[in-house]
Amino acid sequence: MSDCIFCKIANGEIPSEFLFEDENVVAFRDLNPQAPVHVLVVPKAHHENFVDNVPAETLASMEAAVRAVAEKCGIAETGFRCIMNTGTAAGQTVMHLHMHVLGGKPLGEGLI
Ligand code: IMP
Repeated sequence: MSDCIFCKIANGEIPSEFLFEDENVVAFRDLNPQAPVHVLVVPKAHHENFVDNVPAETLASMEAAVRAVAEKCGIAETGFRCIMNTGTAAGQTVMHLHMHVLGGKPLGEGLI
């Protein structure tokens, strides 16, 4: 999508530092971090959200990206939280599928 910020980041139109990249996804730091580690895992293809016919290979790449990011950022052992806001009522503001990976501090026991 031509006016999608995450498409532009994922295709290199907006330069960003990638913590992980493969043929299907990229991972980069959130602009407005909510934790010491706050990384977004983003498919290169435009899907609005998690339930927008995402291919199995892309989901597998997202899982690989989460594992790689957790290792790279030193949160694999301590634990971390993965969040995918899906739709406006859930607080999704960028309508291009992304998984938040949050960690580096105690996040509490609740869901949110
Ligand atoms: P959402 O609320 O789940 O849609 O999350 C969107 C996230 O994208 C927010 O945490 C924003 O801080 C983040 N974000 C928006 N624009 C950029 C950007 O250009 N680079 C990195 N993160 C961004």
